[in-house]
Amino acid sequence: MINLNKPITYIKGVTANRAALLYQELQIKTCADLLHFFPYRYIDKTQFYKIQQLQNSNAEVQVIGRITHLKTVKQQRGSRLVATFIDETGSMELVWFKGAKWIKDSLKVNVPYVIYGKLNSFNNSFSIPHPEMELLLEYKKKVQTAMQPVYSSTENLANKNISNKVIRTLIQNLFIEIDGRISESLSEVFINQYGLISKKEALLNIHFPKSQENLAKAQYRLKFEELFFIQLQLIRKKLIRKSKLKGYSFEKVGEKFNDFYTNKLPFELTNAQKRVLKEIRKDVAIGIHMNRLLQGDVGSGKTIVALLTMLLAIDNGFQACLMAPTEILASQHYNAISDLLKDSDMNVALLTGSVKAKKRREIHQQLENGTLNILIGTHALLEDKVIFNNLGIAIIDEQHRFGVAQRSKMWKKNELPPHVLVMTATPIPRTLAMSVYGDLDISVIDELPPGRKEVKTVHRFDSNRLAVFKFLKDEIAKGRQVYVVYPLIQESAAMDYKDLIDGYESISRDFPMPEYQISIVHGKMKPADKEYEMQRFVKGETQIMVATTVIEVGVNVPNASVMVIESSERFGLSQLHQLRGRVGRGADQSYCVLLSDVKLSADAKTRLKTMVETSDGFKIAEVDLKLRGPGNIMGTQQSGVLNLKIADVVKDTSILVTARNAAIDLLTDDSNLSKPENSIILNSYTNLQKKSGLWANIS
Ligand code: ADP
Ligand code: MG
Repeated sequence: MINLNKPITYIKGVTANRAALLYQELQIKTCADLLHFFPYRYIDKTQFYKIQQLQNSNAEVQVIGRITHLKTVKQQRGSRLVATFIDETGSMELVWFKGAKWIKDSLKVNVPYVIYGKLNSFNNSFSIPHPEMELLLEYKKKVQTAMQPVYSSTENLANKNISNKVIRTLIQNLFIEIDGRISESLSEVFINQYGLISKKEALLNIHFPKSQENLAKAQYRLKFEELFFIQLQLIRKKLIRKSKLKGYSFEKVGEKFNDFYTNKLPFELTNAQKRVLKEIRKDVAIGIHMNRLLQGDVGSGKTIVALLTMLLAIDNGFQACLMAPTEILASQHYNAISDLLKDSDMNVALLTGSVKAKKRREIHQQLENGTLNILIGTHALLEDKVIFNNLGIAIIDEQHRFGVAQRSKMWKKNELPPHVLVMTATPIPRTLAMSVYGDLDISVIDELPPGRKEVKTVHRFDSNRLAVFKFLKDEIAKGRQVYVVYPLIQESAAMDYKDLIDGYESISRDFPMPEYQISIVHGKMKPADKEYEMQRFVKGETQIMVATTVIEVGVNVPNASVMVIESSERFGLSQLHQLRGRVGRGADQSYCVLLSDVKLSADAKTRLKTMVETSDGFKIAEVDLKLRGPGNIMGTQQSGVLNLKIADVVKDTSILVTARNAAIDLLTDDSNLSKPENSIILNSYTNLQKKSGLWANIS
């Protein structure tokens, strides 16, 4: 029997040239690669449709009927041929844009045909351009083939005559060589338990399905298997981390925590905040290393959870740090936390790129001798000179701005790794989180502090700008403050700054001094200038803040109650949601105005409509995931979910959940997969880990 790890040149019909080309174009090297090169669609000529049954989709369909008449329609260049095609249920059109004359002569009117092609629909009428046509009489004479696989290809392959048919033949040849001897990767018990078909059957039917039903079974088995092994890996990693990786133990809830909790807490914690604190406590109290992702929508109150966690560390003799992605955010955290701790003897410092050398040295020194309790800052925390005496916990705010590598740098400074709490306001749909962060512990604050009013959101076209400005004036007259945000696609793009500056000038004209004061903040400003402008707004000296998305994350000005987003059609959903989260933080009713051009793409319409309809971050994230696919969602690049061969993390969520639970059940029963009945699974798992780049990518 042919060894599947052998190069594809062992297969009949694969020359060295072809092998090189297949590797270059499709990364197919071994027989196993070819066996797992799955079709991306199928030509289904096993089914016939009645015209009435046709659905509004792009599917390929096969219909029996006859042409009633033909007409030639003049168009700009040449002409097109249009045939009216009917069956007993309805009528449709067949269209040829090329070769009209020749085709017209070859077609027979009022004779039954079998036609096949890709369906177009327009205003409830259907047409097929350039259909395959065969007289029904001829069709009946032939042996009919089953569903045919279509493999993705490249221009280069097509040019070198490696057509879909060639690939199909190679795979057929491979199946002949291996003669059904495909080894199973899951145990029999397991296969029965989850109602799967065998690996052999699945592979055969994914390439050469006998029916739609068989295809569905094959797809289910292969998707399940793919997701199962990823989950097995993630959950094992988590179990190993929990059982082996030691972390500092914060045994006691001490004086600092208790004093703050009973005397200084400015509000009662929400139930969600309390629950999350318990979840954190559970890990850190017993010396297991914590690696936790804290998801909480904007305004859900993650900061106070962070602070309480840091106090826990300090109570146990450790230092704590909090890293934020921007200077503005870091100093906001610093101010908020210093304020909350003002009557305590805690030593808190801020370290950012703009801290002067003298102050910096002082911080370094206090860090090393352990007198500094809490360090808050930006990436500046990751510099080599920043050495903690005993860092107990690292909290990272808004993780999507931090790469994995940067995170790991912090760990090096310690004897044991500090506990890590990553906070994010970008909700990740549950199922995606399972595939991307399945090895982390996840906590969710799914409740907003009481009394928070939903931000009223409207969508207005640019032509309504005057009415919007009038509204802003009314709100400002009530003592409120306003953000006006411009898109900044690239920090460097001059175009974007032009929009921002033009906008600033036009707003300055409509909101003249001295009645109105305007701040402007953007990424090209010096940090000190940015900070100055921000502070003016925070203090209420300016009523309007014109900004780029630098204010997107974290900034907290409770008195600001209106968010105007210019060219909102250019923003992604999660960005819009983040921006809107800047308002609605105070007691007043807040508003978000989405300004856009009249011309909108279908996706842009969906985005704006979603924003108007809901403020639930998780719902918004689901829509975002559907619109953009997982490739654009944070974290996915590192996770390998994009390397999936057959499963789709968006569409196959129910299979994912089943596979994850299967992995959990299996490992709960046999954490090392050492039971004899699990040896097949262990074997496949080990092989996969050795082989695939996917596993290396999951860090
Ligand atoms: P985020 O999760 O976006 O970081 P913050 O921690 O900045 O949210 O909190 C948003 C606002 O809500 C802050 O002004 C904070 O003081 C307030 N807040 C947080 N928790 C509560 C609570 N349990 N009750 C009332 N207000 C709260
Ligand atoms: Mg925050």
